[in-house]
Amino acid sequence: MPHDPYKALYVHLPFCVRRCRYCDFATEAAPSDNPAIERYVEDLCLQVRRASKEGELGAVETVYLGGGTPSHVGISRLSMLLYTLSLSMRLEPDVECTMEANPESFDARMAADIWALGVNRLSLGVQSLDDEVLGILGRPHDAQAALAAIAAAGTRFDNVSVDVMCGIPGQSVASLADTLQRLVDAGAKHVSVYPLAVEEGTPLYRDMMRGRFPEPDEDEQAEAMVAAKELLERAGFHRYEVASYALEGFECRHNKAYWTGKPYLGIGRSAATMTQNDQRRMRVTDGQVTDDLDRRQMYAEDLMLGMRMSEGVAFELVEEASSVLPDAKQAFARLIELGLVERTERSYRPTEQGWLQGNELYGALFDLA
Ligand code: SF4
Repeated sequence: MPHDPYKALYVHLPFCVRRCRYCDFATEAAPSDNPAIERYVEDLCLQVRRASKEGELGAVETVYLGGGTPSHVGISRLSMLLYTLSLSMRLEPDVECTMEANPESFDARMAADIWALGVNRLSLGVQSLDDEVLGILGRPHDAQAALAAIAAAGTRFDNVSVDVMCGIPGQSVASLADTLQRLVDAGAKHVSVYPLAVEEGTPLYRDMMRGRFPEPDEDEQAEAMVAAKELLERAGFHRYEVASYALEGFECRHNKAYWTGKPYLGIGRSAATMTQNDQRRMRVTDGQVTDDLDRRQMYAEDLMLGMRMSEGVAFELVEEASSVLPDAKQAFARLIELGLVERTERSYRPTEQGWLQGNELYGALFDLA
């Protein structure tokens, strides 16, 4: 279908040194010298070239190399991929280019090389700086390696993000606070804090079913999220999305594209592509259509996604949405009564309570269509 230009590009590298015990992402454990990785990256390069020749990369403003563990594929394959990207689109400093890395496969040499090839934001999978917690999660690195990776990142990157997990049975609030404080002290500019979700089919889930691992407690997870918020806000971070904190100017533009309904192209196994025009929005993964939304559903989804962000949704968007969703304003009035949303001068934004009752908040808006 004729579609609006893609604004964001996601490239998926689905390989890890081994699988973490909680992982249900599209990834596989493979040694870094496995020839399958070589073939996969070559194929990615061809897909990037094809997208470029078809004119699909001309308006891309953010690039995200995610996984899996992109750093696990090694510098020669990353060089090939990043070089291909730089030949295929405008990869200038104003284009945010993030790469994910894991501590066990990242060092100062890789930092220097990927920086030279156009990466300007690094996202490190740390999860915790408590070795006991890392053991529960089955992470392939310890706290010391994580701190070494942050130091290595700092040799080239100003914009360093870390992922942290909370609400893990066995993890105290003090352990979480200690992790966050040390990450802030180490120079992280962006922190994503996610509660542990134990997904069916993972080793952690099997342990939970056998009674060897306690089920995460929702109240404890909420308490951990509140503790994280307090500590990070004291350190000067602002919470710009339900799970994302940043120092001023270090918000992730790529993720914001996802939350503000900008079209994105996904390249690689299991990478989703969202294609749209003003009448229709489609998501496709591995050739399968996973969403096919009409105009009403698009607006409802935009309102819902907007509620993930602290800035919420501008009155203009709600006004526009009302032309096809006549109950939109009423829905916001009801959410305000419930204490899940508040009005600012120019927008409706989620309250703390709204984020804690996320399902109710998001559901009320998505159900408008
Ligand atoms: S590093 Fe990430 S993608 Fe890889 S196994 Fe662990 S959780 Fe899964």
